[in-house]
Amino acid sequence: MIKLKGIAAASGISIGPAYKIGKEEFIIPKEAIREKDIPVQIQLFEEALIKTRREIIELQKRIGFEMGQEEAQIFDAHLLVLEDRMLIEDVISRLKKEHLKVAYIFSEVLKKYISVFSKIEDEYLKERTADINDVGKRILRNLLGKKRTGLSELKDKVIIVAHDISPSDTAVMHKQKVSAFITDIGGKTSHTAIMAKSLEIPAVVGIEEATAKISSGDILIVDGNNGLVIVGPDEKTLEEYHREKEKLKGATQKFLLVKDLPATTLDGKKVEISANIEFPDEVPAVKMHGGQGIGLYRTEFFYMNRKDLPTEEEHYQAYKYVAEEMKPYSVIIRTLDLGGDKFLSQFAIPHEMQPFLGWRAIRFCLARPDIFKLQLRAILRASVHGNLKLMYPMISGIEELEQANKILAEAKEELKKQGTPFNNNIEVGAMIEVPSAAMTTDILAREANFFSIGTNDLIQYSLAVDRVNEKVAYLYEPAHPAVLRLIKNIIDSAHKAGVKVGMCGEMAGEPGFALMLLGLGLDEFSMPPQVIPEIKYIIRSVNFKQAEEIAHKAMQLSTGTEVENFTKSKLAEILK
Ligand code: PEP
Ligand code: MG
Repeated sequence: MIKLKGIAAASGISIGPAYKIGKEEFIIPKEAIREKDIPVQIQLFEEALIKTRREIIELQKRIGFEMGQEEAQIFDAHLLVLEDRMLIEDVISRLKKEHLKVAYIFSEVLKKYISVFSKIEDEYLKERTADINDVGKRILRNLLGKKRTGLSELKDKVIIVAHDISPSDTAVMHKQKVSAFITDIGGKTSHTAIMAKSLEIPAVVGIEEATAKISSGDILIVDGNNGLVIVGPDEKTLEEYHREKEKLKGATQKFLLVKDLPATTLDGKKVEISANIEFPDEVPAVKMHGGQGIGLYRTEFFYMNRKDLPTEEEHYQAYKYVAEEMKPYSVIIRTLDLGGDKFLSQFAIPHEMQPFLGWRAIRFCLARPDIFKLQLRAILRASVHGNLKLMYPMISGIEELEQANKILAEAKEELKKQGTPFNNNIEVGAMIEVPSAAMTTDILAREANFFSIGTNDLIQYSLAVDRVNEKVAYLYEPAHPAVLRLIKNIIDSAHKAGVKVGMCGEMAGEPGFALMLLGLGLDEFSMPPQVIPEIKYIIRSVNFKQAEEIAHKAMQLSTGTEVENFTKSKLAEILK
């Protein structure tokens, strides 16, 4: 039995046989052609491009229908590769010069492109290597008249093991045939990971040696909750995981029973439970899991996978849809949080040594009021269609908040002049995710109607731990006493100023921590839709007084691990 550690990309547990798909390599002979065959080869190339285009559009339609428009949009990047004049002209000019078969020439040009792109420092462009590779393989397949075997023809339910999985591979996976997947490379926010979540199958990525250590037919346990893969588990481990899986299933059903009830403690204290989303078409999942609103709509994904910027109308339509669908519940739209680990090629951001401490989020927006105001105008316009609120990311002090609100006031003025309706009293919030903001919430309260604690960043900034660096991940402790003291200070001083506090960092959706946060007086908990029923169940099972005592005791402990173990044991007692 061996254990392989990777990155947890999509939650859940799956047990079953491995099905390894190799890297798709073609052997392409270097065959010479005569001068007079050149037009035929060009025609072959054009036909392959047309056929590939048709395949991608077909696939895009199917994905749009089965998984949603946002997932389908991923293939826009593939279509752009097909229209790349430089790539096409490169192939044709080399064909005319070198007199070799087009399949060979194309494969050489493709290799050159991939090598150039993979060396680029810009993360976004680097990610495009996968798109070029994916489309390139399709074109080659069509040039050689070959078919991609495997994924769409699977007979039994398997766990896919691959070096990497492209979005179009994920697209042909059916839940009935693929119970999980694992890959050597990839990160939590890759397109493939996004697709896995939509398919609701567990996935572990970035294992490095998955394909080297696993053979087809090996029995695997994929633990998508902990980013763990167990190869050839012994009887005891198998039994444990089968039990865990059953427990998860039983627990999920139990949690789902309360999903539409209010999040009220046994002694009557009511809090709000809302959802974090990245795309508008996650709204049905929010409703299905009993979300009473959206506590964080991360709008930066709107700017991804495209060469141009979204127009005001595009922003407006998306926000209007979410506002209308979620009515009467509130929807908090977070303005563009670019930078850190989220790069967008449209903005040509210079390379920075410390991107998380650099030109990010509100800093970027205040430097580019044109881009910022366009988004604010769209949010304001959409505000008449439901209960919309807006919030700014990464506020570090009152001046930033004042400047942002000034641009908001200008946007309002413009709309007024145009006679465009909007909600003049739209609530404005600040994310509290920088320690300087956490220590000055009393001051920030003058300019904000509500706060939302972004623990994902607050933890990295207060403990000096890069949130995406696996080497220092052991130091990333949500319940470190320093973090708890900051959270307590935020909640207490905000309440003193009469301002409500939510939390949209991942910590709010962690069962043990949620219990403690309830006791610390948090008003709103925002989390991925799938965890809502469980957190609601916990809140409905406890007395507020009891939660306060737990929080009080947790605050006396010395380390994050002690707090984590303590809150977990208290939760187990309550749910017993
Ligand atoms: C956070 O920092 O906790 C947060 C919710 O924002 P993001 O994860 O998008 O940085
Ligand atoms: Mg953040």
